[in-house]
Amino acid sequence: MRNQIFSHLLPAILIMAGSTLDAQKKIEGLLFFDDSPVSIEIEDGKIFQITRLDSVPHDFPKTYISPGFIDNQVNGFAGVSFAMGGSDLTEEAIEKATRELWMYGVTTYLPTLTTNSEELLKKNFEVLARTFSNEQLLGSIPGFHLEGPWISPEDGYRGAHPKQFVRPPDWEVFTELNRAASNKILQVTLAPEMEGGLEFISKCSKAGIVVALGHHNAPADVVRAAIDRGAKIATHLGNGAANTINRHRNPFWSQLADDRLMISIICDGFHLLPEEIQTFYKVKGTDRTILTSDVTSYASLEPGTYLTGMGETVELTEEGLLHYPAQKVLYGSASAITKGVGHVMKVTGCSLAQAVQMASTNPAQLYGLNDRGTLEPGKRADLIVFTIDDFRLNIQKTYVKGELVYQSDNK
Ligand SMILES: [Zn+2]
Repeated sequence: MRNQIFSHLLPAILIMAGSTLDAQKKIEGLLFFDDSPVSIEIEDGKIFQITRLDSVPHDFPKTYISPGFIDNQVNGFAGVSFAMGGSDLTEEAIEKATRELWMYGVTTYLPTLTTNSEELLKKNFEVLARTFSNEQLLGSIPGFHLEGPWISPEDGYRGAHPKQFVRPPDWEVFTELNRAASNKILQVTLAPEMEGGLEFISKCSKAGIVVALGHHNAPADVVRAAIDRGAKIATHLGNGAANTINRHRNPFWSQLADDRLMISIICDGFHLLPEEIQTFYKVKGTDRTILTSDVTSYASLEPGTYLTGMGETVELTEEGLLHYPAQKVLYGSASAITKGVGHVMKVTGCSLAQAVQMASTNPAQLYGLNDRGTLEPGKRADLIVFTIDDFRLNIQKTYVKGELVYQSDNK
């Protein structure tokens, strides 16, 4: 069946007939970006070679192979919140969340801590940083995202972040938090109009930390100055803003207009209307858009009502809508990025190749994770095998660093 080396991906590797292939893992399916049947061989946790095939057995429904998804905003998953107080966040809980994310094809993610007390942020970063030496996680956590506390205190722009902990940026505090995080805070989301915000952005850029603009109400000249100083991305564009905004002077236009700025968007079907996703995608294109989930601890739980840590009753519907009935508002996302991959294809008409680029390749590049995000020999074998049914991805197998970590019952 093997007839030809996948030449543009594999310039220097020759097929070694009769070599140790039997000892290697081999995955067959359709390549996500051109539907061609391939066999991918894994060795020592990495992609060894990719070989074109004439056909693959059982290719109906079409079974695709792509790099695993990389989610830059995961607040929690499957009952585990990374913002848990007290001594609630444990290494075991982080392992549980990671294993559940693997079931959805998420092979890399940035645990995200949001606005809170310095004590809690520091403590939870310390717990999270301990997982770097946890071999069971297979390198799925390369670093962290800190969203806040340096965001706008204004209602609406602040979102659900607690006001009492919102404050202007402080490089010393950041340095302390980053130290607790083993210097692995890869991205900070902040409001550039806060006092000292622009100087803070310059310091982050110099230190190689990705600056994201979010939960802000910065005027256009401040957005431009922030980008001049190295801000690279707008966090969950279209969300983290007031419901009523000035039609001319609002943060959306300035962030959409500047080609230097990437955007992340939450494509769970609830946070943005189809026409918002369509417009954002038309403006920024595949190369400057990242799919994110902003997923919370309620993801992957059974539909029903839950009592939050703050004593509020929230409801998770069959459709995956997480809301707070008392105020008729969303209570964060309950869907892994996987749903967003199908949803962005549905509403924009983009290809699977483009959707995977936005959910894997682009975030890998943004954070300098050069060992993942594409299917190429030498890259980590973080691979997912899936079918698509009416824009829903059904993950059949997930490999992380070459290990089969999830296999669906249907396969
Ligand atoms: Zn947010």
